[in-house]
Amino acid sequence: MKSDFTYDLVIIGGGISACVFASQFLKNNITKKIALIEIGRGLGGRSSTRISKRFKGWKLNHGAPNFNISNSKNNLLLKSYIDELLKNKFIKIDDSDIFFLNQDLKSENIKKSEFSCGVNYLSLNSMSELSKKIIESTNSKEKIDFFFETLIVDMKFNDKEWLLTSKNGDKYKSKYLICSTNLLLHKRSLKILKVNQIPLRKAIPINNDKKIDLLLNFLEKQTFIPRLTFLIYTNENYSYSDYYSKNQRNFYLKNNLEKKYRFERIIFQLQDNNKLGIVVHSKNEELINSYISTNDEEVLKKKIITDFNKLFEENSLVQKLTFDEKISIMRWRASQPSGLAVPLSLQFSRKYRIGFCGDWFEGDGFGRIEGSILSALILEKKIKDLIK
Ligand SMILES: Cc1cc2nc3c(=O)[nH]c(=O)nc-3n(C[C@H](O)[C@H](O)[C@H](O)COP(=O)(O)OP(=O)(O)OC[C@H]3O[C@@H](n4cnc5c(N)ncnc54)[C@H](O)[C@@H]3O)c2cc1C
Repeated sequence: MKSDFTYDLVIIGGGISACVFASQFLKNNITKKIALIEIGRGLGGRSSTRISKRFKGWKLNHGAPNFNISNSKNNLLLKSYIDELLKNKFIKIDDSDIFFLNQDLKSENIKKSEFSCGVNYLSLNSMSELSKKIIESTNSKEKIDFFFETLIVDMKFNDKEWLLTSKNGDKYKSKYLICSTNLLLHKRSLKILKVNQIPLRKAIPINNDKKIDLLLNFLEKQTFIPRLTFLIYTNENYSYSDYYSKNQRNFYLKNNLEKKYRFERIIFQLQDNNKLGIVVHSKNEELINSYISTNDEEVLKKKIITDFNKLFEENSLVQKLTFDEKISIMRWRASQPSGLAVPLSLQFSRKYRIGFCGDWFEGDGFGRIEGSILSALILEKKIKDLIK
């Protein structure tokens, strides 16, 4: 039998922006009935952790491994929130090694990537755990109903409330709606959700709300960077060649090298049991296409190991991999927004009682966790008095 649920506020998505929004909102609105709906099996979204069933004991951050705040000095809201996360010991300053490999395969120590400028932070546990801790800091268990493995495919608004329908036909009613993902607002929804109209456009036809029209216009020009991450569960005795005990070690490939090897960055992640996991990121189109079209993943995995070994051939810190390392591959169809960012002024429609947050809004943190957190904090401030 299909179920029917009614709430004061529903949040679609369980990534870090949703968790920040929910935790801040709950601090001020303890009596409201809230639900969070997420298609994944847990919280974290693109900043989450693969806890492998096949390879026991491994926790590899397969999306964002850490995050950087490039601009907190000029933003007190963001600064005080990051200070709170530090005080609660959810995060710590990340002083891991960051190397930039140049064309001659030599390491340079200068920080200059979009993911490493400013101050870097690391979750004290895994990245999924960070989102969980943020939301649990407000004793959310009693205050929020979580619906995991639930994909919203349709949304409707009548004057009273939002009506959401999941893929398996469950219905969720809510007076206010927060979308922490723009999937339901973007043309990629047509293919992914197999619908014939962008769900938000269907719910709010053109010329009913200028803000919504503008929002959808901006999103028409937003594109997404696909990525692959290769998760390497190394063999028993694999370690660095030197002594290094910090949680992560990052190698970025400078432009020409990235083109040649098709790797963007490589993050070594020390596990609780002292094993050393490796996550290789790639946004190379050719590599992504070869993954999509391959009938033989084993060949691709062998190629990754060959290239990894070639890249680190003369590196004094990194040992070679063997061909029997276990590898799993994660394909991110939309790892990061690109193109046009959406102005924060379009974040909330009073008429339709709908708000939006995530890394797809304008600002220094566009396309990164910094933007996700900041947009969630700003949205909560915008609507907190309305929903009291
Ligand atoms: C490989 C990779 C590396 C990255 N590296 C970095 C980095 O080093 N530093 C950095 O700052 N950022 C990095 N990023 C970007 C960073 O992960 C994102 O900016 C951030 O996690 C976005 O969080 P969010 O809450 O805005 O969105 P998301 O994490 O995307 O959350 C949205 C959630 O909504 C869910 N959802 C979507 N549609 C529906 C639906 N219809 N029904 C139910 N649920 C739905 C999704 O499953 C998702 O969990 C990286 C991303 C990837 C993929």
